Amino acid sequence: MEHETAAVFPATLHVQGHDAVRDHLTHSTAATFLFVGPPNVGRRTTALWWFAYLNCESDTRPCGRCASCQRWQTGYHPDVLIKEPVATTRSGAQAANPVLRLDQIALRRGPGADPNPLIPWLRSAPSGTVKMAIVMASDKMTESAANAFLKTLEEPPANTKIVLIAPSRSSVLPTVASRAETVRFGSVPVTPGANEPAWRSDIRYGRVGAVMRSRSADVSDGEWREPIEALVTAMDHDTAALLDACERFVEAERKHPEVDFEGNLVELVRAERPEWLGALVHIMVERREAKAAYVSQRTLSTHLALALAAVVS
Ligand SMILES: [Zn+2]
Repeated sequence: MEHETAAVFPATLHVQGHDAVRDHLTHSTAATFLFVGPPNVGRRTTALWWFAYLNCESDTRPCGRCASCQRWQTGYHPDVLIKEPVATTRSGAQAANPVLRLDQIALRRGPGADPNPLIPWLRSAPSGTVKMAIVMASDKMTESAANAFLKTLEEPPANTKIVLIAPSRSSVLPTVASRAETVRFGSVPVTPGANEPAWRSDIRYGRVGAVMRSRSADVSDGEWREPIEALVTAMDHDTAALLDACERFVEAERKHPEVDFEGNLVELVRAERPEWLGALVHIMVERREAKAAYVSQRTLSTHLALALAAVVS
């Protein structure tokens, strides 16, 4: 997925921590930002939360219920564009290190060029209120890409926000850093017990009882175990296999409401692929919201497949 124009992103209203940052963002009038902090601290998640906030149609933002919020919660929104470094050159050769290339930022003709570069995308009008471009690992921007970007960073089109993400201010080119408002992200303390977020216990994260309960349920072992195992296996394969596995998973869930499919899936991933666990837990939270909204079985399985594909890509 080198030139991913319709990125599926993790959309969650349950941002942990960063209260001061979020409060600052909701009052800020700047357009270009540099989010700095350690990996996986929530820089992209906060940017996406902010996007939902800016586009929400309710008084209490983001509400999670209006048309804009609901669209965003599918993990895809036409007014969000995320660019990440790529590990190949335009000719398809493997690059030594992934970089953000010039053609990802500015329109370049010819084979291998990104068909949806950032600057022209920002110039078209948003379908909602505000468009947001998120540039992951901005420290990996080539000098030619940065130079092409400078004017837009300085003066982004109306109704747009640009969020550059990097480990630190000093890691990005000074010409880029000087055109952005720096927002610092500290690590979020996680204290088990009283401060444990409600959503964790909501989906029985960490409870070993899930598997045992399913075993005692009046369902044959293969009927509940097979769709779960097939789903984890399919995560290592292509999207078509994943979609197929998700359809079977959702169908099994519908047939056997007494079995805790989600809890078992979480347990199996914890045991076999712990690196996916954090993202999977978020997906399960979002699924709960989708299920509560009574979306169709087909929509549920499609969204599950797209979300899981994003975890492993
Ligand atoms: Zn809303």
